[in-house]
Amino acid sequence: MTAATTALNLTGKALTPGAQRSWWLREALAAEKDGLACPPLTGDIKADVVIVGGGFTGLWTAYHLTQTKPDLKVVVLEQDICGGGPSGRNGGFASGWWDELDGLITLYGEADAVRACRAISDSINAIGDFCSAHGVDAWFRHAGYLYAATSPQHEAVCEEVVKLAREIGAPEELRALTREEVKARCASPAFRSGAFMKDGASVQPAFLARGLRRVVMERGVTIHEGTPVTSLNAGPPAVAITPNGTVRAPRAVLAVNAWGVGWPQLRRRLVAWSSYIVLTAPAPEKVAEIGWTGGELITDFRTSVRYFRTTRDGRIAFGGGGGRASSRIDDSFTHDMRAVEEAAEGFRRLFPSFSEVPLEDAWGGPIDVSSTHLPTFGTLEPGNLFYALGYTGNGVAPTHLAGKVIADLVTGSDTDSTRLPMVNRKARLFPPEPLRSIGAAVVRRAIIAKDTAEETGRRPNAVMSAIARMPRRMGYLLGP
Ligand SMILES: Cc1cc2nc3c(=O)[nH]c(=O)nc-3n(C[C@H](O)[C@H](O)[C@H](O)COP(=O)(O)OP(=O)(O)OC[C@H]3O[C@@H](n4cnc5c(N)ncnc54)[C@H](O)[C@@H]3O)c2cc1C
Repeated sequence: MTAATTALNLTGKALTPGAQRSWWLREALAAEKDGLACPPLTGDIKADVVIVGGGFTGLWTAYHLTQTKPDLKVVVLEQDICGGGPSGRNGGFASGWWDELDGLITLYGEADAVRACRAISDSINAIGDFCSAHGVDAWFRHAGYLYAATSPQHEAVCEEVVKLAREIGAPEELRALTREEVKARCASPAFRSGAFMKDGASVQPAFLARGLRRVVMERGVTIHEGTPVTSLNAGPPAVAITPNGTVRAPRAVLAVNAWGVGWPQLRRRLVAWSSYIVLTAPAPEKVAEIGWTGGELITDFRTSVRYFRTTRDGRIAFGGGGGRASSRIDDSFTHDMRAVEEAAEGFRRLFPSFSEVPLEDAWGGPIDVSSTHLPTFGTLEPGNLFYALGYTGNGVAPTHLAGKVIADLVTGSDTDSTRLPMVNRKARLFPPEPLRSIGAAVVRRAIIAKDTAEETGRRPNAVMSAIARMPRRMGYLLGP
């Protein structure tokens, strides 16, 4: 143990990030008494649709395909286990897009921005309905989303976001909260004024991912876990090649999230960035002491966002704080002790009354940052490949919508979903490697320095502020 880990009261599995699966996934796997097996693919098979990736995007796509065309033969190929990626590791925030209005309006105009927000709202409700209908206890709780500013600069940003919702005619979706109102929901000494978005539901993400896996299998979808797709020949027909077999199908779906950095069709559309979560020991009495009993999801307004929520057994899961960019998905996304410490530092700063409560677990994963901070879904050349990408760390609700859109595109249906503005939209590309990762790392450090200076009442360094603003100057909808 280092002095830093001791000072932060990091204990147990928090000291070995990456050595075990996320706490969420361990809980979900332990609850699977008679789990259905999904052995690796051996041999050559045929299907109507082959899906690469068994996270939320791949599984929701399979689910929606079984809803609209139950006779289709759908095969999912997952290199790990379903939910082994970020879908089983994230913060479990299924959140609305009303705070994304600025970017949405810039990209699509006001009417389409509102349409997109409403579609995400529907997806949040649909996730809850799915859980009820299929007996998936993923702890779905629609308790809303609280924004708590931690610096005067962030209060100004918060006011802008609320104003935009009002101006667009949706004041009920995002409303301002005074400092007292924020503290009544969660009494952190760091919180100032804020806002409340009713579109916010928490889930236990791994229970949702594994529940989806069960439901699609019951509907006849074939899943092969432990099956990496080493290449995909578009054809048509598409041929997914794996170490011990192939799947030949007229249509294929790339649902690989940040692993898209390894796919030529996708790599210029994203930067892979790590995010880490730390988890306290159960401390329900401490959670009650600060009045955080309403189940709200909470985030601050830092550009290097922090996000936190409670669990059923009275823990706090706290994410964000650092992260690194990389040109390939390697151990830096799962084993980075420094990133764990940065998340822990954020937690200790915001929740000093928990100083005696150990942080006993920690895990990380990759997020697929797009150039617009928003995902796109669509069709790739030569027309039989489909994708969803660019969730930018906000994919729990959008993956449900992505699955619906892709299922409709795969079946050639013209629906409200396929007419959404983010379908088949070309986004600005990132520079090629190594410029992309180096640039991302430099900008990210500058953003964190700026956020931290503002939060601690210091004047941000002018050079750091200028670097933090560079992406926007270059036409990307990222950064302050
Ligand atoms: C720490 C962390 C916290 C987050 N918190 C939130 C949050 O609170 N709210 C929110 O909305 N979003 C959050 N996110 C983002 C969210 O988890 C993702 O946007 C979402 O899970 C994306 O789902 P997906 O199915 O597209 O990707 P994944 O879950 O990553 O699934 C992709 C799958 O593809 C598989 N795969 C990749 N390449 C291959 C291949 N060649 N062959 C076979 N399989 C392959 C991977 O193993 C993986 O299982 C967070 C992410 C992280 C890392």
